[in-house]
Amino acid sequence: MMNLKTLAITAIGALFFFSHASAQQSIAQKVEALLAKMTLEEKVGQMTQISIDTLIKKNKGLTIEPHITDTAALVECIKKYKVGSILNVGGNAQTLQAWRERIATIQNIAMQDRLKIPVLYGIDAIHGNNYTMGSIMFPQQIAQAASFNPVLVEQAAEATAYETRAAFIPWTFSPVADLGRHPAWPRIWETFGEDPLVAERLSAAMVKGFQGKSANTDKYHVAACLKHYMGYSMPLSGHDRTPAWIPERELREYFLPPFAAAVKAGAKTVMVNSGEINGLPVHANKHLLTDILKGELNFKGFVVSDWQDIRYLFERHRIAKDNKEAVMMAVNAGIDMSMVPTGYSFCTALTELAKEGKVTMTRINDAVRRILTVKYELGLFDNPNGNSGDYPLFNSTKHKQLNYSVTAECITLLKNESHTLPLSKNQRILVTGPAANSMRPLNGGWSRTWQGNNTDETDADQNTTLEALQNVFGKNQITYSQGVSFESVVDIQDVVSKAQASDVIVLCIGEDNYTETPGNIHDLTLSTPQIELAKALHATGKPLVFVLTEGRPRILSAIEPYARAVIHAYLPGNEGGNVIADVLAGKVNPCGKLPYTYPRNTNSLLNYYHKYTETKQFEPAGFDPQWEFGHGLSYTDFAYSNLRMNRVVLDDKTPLTVSIDVVNTGKVIGKETVMLYFSDEVASVTPEVKRLRDFKKIELRPGQKTTVSFTVDKAGLSFINQKLQHVTEPGVFTIDIGGLKRRIECK
Ligand code: BGC
Repeated sequence: MMNLKTLAITAIGALFFFSHASAQQSIAQKVEALLAKMTLEEKVGQMTQISIDTLIKKNKGLTIEPHITDTAALVECIKKYKVGSILNVGGNAQTLQAWRERIATIQNIAMQDRLKIPVLYGIDAIHGNNYTMGSIMFPQQIAQAASFNPVLVEQAAEATAYETRAAFIPWTFSPVADLGRHPAWPRIWETFGEDPLVAERLSAAMVKGFQGKSANTDKYHVAACLKHYMGYSMPLSGHDRTPAWIPERELREYFLPPFAAAVKAGAKTVMVNSGEINGLPVHANKHLLTDILKGELNFKGFVVSDWQDIRYLFERHRIAKDNKEAVMMAVNAGIDMSMVPTGYSFCTALTELAKEGKVTMTRINDAVRRILTVKYELGLFDNPNGNSGDYPLFNSTKHKQLNYSVTAECITLLKNESHTLPLSKNQRILVTGPAANSMRPLNGGWSRTWQGNNTDETDADQNTTLEALQNVFGKNQITYSQGVSFESVVDIQDVVSKAQASDVIVLCIGEDNYTETPGNIHDLTLSTPQIELAKALHATGKPLVFVLTEGRPRILSAIEPYARAVIHAYLPGNEGGNVIADVLAGKVNPCGKLPYTYPRNTNSLLNYYHKYTETKQFEPAGFDPQWEFGHGLSYTDFAYSNLRMNRVVLDDKTPLTVSIDVVNTGKVIGKETVMLYFSDEVASVTPEVKRLRDFKKIELRPGQKTTVSFTVDKAGLSFINQKLQHVTEPGVFTIDIGGLKRRIECK
């Protein structure tokens, strides 16, 4: 019999379900009523997204900063072309006030139009509301992935949503749910790394943080946009927007699950992969966009193209003879909104195609229905702007502290010979390298500007690594000399001479800022001047500590042996300098784990879930990375023991519970991510050497012991077979936690 408490919980649950269902129903009714009033041109306008670049004033072709709205252009956009969505910043980051005025101006014009449909403004708020001055800038996704902490990722997304909505912007083009599998690809840092499970959990967490708990988003949350659906991250060349060759089996095995999880978490929008897979640009791929995304995954939101990518079907990919044919292909494939982004060629083409019956009204109505539903769910029809007084936490101490906590869990200690770190208080530290005294290598791209090239000016009030070290250790303990820039030698001799009077050298190396195609490279090796500097410093005999801030794993095998300790900070954001200094001082015990495999050699770029034929067992140049996925040390030690299972045979009836004891055997409190790997010993598709099937993050005081348990059922061990089915084949699996192994038979 149900007790009173259960009854009450059930009743509240039912009430929530019905009120949510009825809210959805009334939105559906409103959408249908509105749709019935709309002309073809109005519908096509809703499917059009224009960049703000074309709607702000220019002087001799250059954007005037701070921006001045071109009202005539805006009126034409909204009233003549009925455009339903605007995007982007259009140049430098704007102030909060400027954003509010911009959105209010846009919505006022929309409210004067016949049907008063609010404009949906979208922005790349990918690590905080990074296009608004003064906003918090969190670590980039790849750094957040290293935390292996979905709770913190969700909190950071929620604070980002809050600060984005504070600027009256209700839609962010984030998260990237695609995997980061090719280390040379310039957008690796926008991903959660190479592992499907990590990307699944963290993408879903980010969606929940952005969108909040209800389908009807409140004034503190925004619509998320999963991108770039899918397989964008593994171009054969490693260069952005170049062809990928990924069989559907692999797409389903590795790339689809994070999107599926994030769709299930409620993501309202999806952006399409700019590239081609197996010879077909994804913007024209009906199978991926309609059959799989809207069909199999039951995605109810809308699909937006990426930048100019419909036009590129003929301009670049050459599968369409002109823009009109490209529009036909893309809309019929399942794209609901075109990020045009300049000009109105999409509107003209789609209107003509509809009149000619080449795109059906059913398809157009479906697209508009999806878009209007999101606008209703975001509350834009009730309040298209926002209330300035509602956002006291914008750039608040609370958000800054959260940023510090997130960053503290990202930093990954890759090497620490003879306990070189933490440094002791009285050591004289020489700080050097191109990344030491700049905010750019901390934040990377999508930071105040698209490329992130002016954060030294915009965020001058934040601490670089050098400034933070001076604060933590005291100015008189620190000597600084840059030595080299990322691309050229500045004065290596000066650093070498200063090394004589130092006890330890902190060498800050990695990459400068870049975003997308401008970040394409020919060589993954760390730039030559940085290698030269490291070699010269090694010759001084002083202990060297590397601090890496980089968007992708630049190969440093030539100098890695010279480092006594290596800290990987990825692109840690505005708190990066502070946290790095606190890690070096021992105030923060690092607990990040590598979310990708860090390669040792330029021609060996394998992921950790490679095949047996790619191992050293069968080929001399087999898998031998600098550091493997999941690697990350601590200032304490964790001992794993007593790996046990509740059964030796796994069947359909009862799941398997795997448990392990973990003890903190060191002297300081620390966090540890416990990872559960499985290896399928024999399978009809060549099995990977191992796959991560679960992980949990724990915290232990010195001497403290805990038991970590994982529950796995048969489905949790499945893979996609040659017929594209999820199967768990009978046979033996090896379980691996922290290097301890057991075998289990699966019936
Ligand atoms: C990028 C997307 C981004 C869009 C809008 C494109 O170039 O590929 O990630 O969301 O621009 O700024």
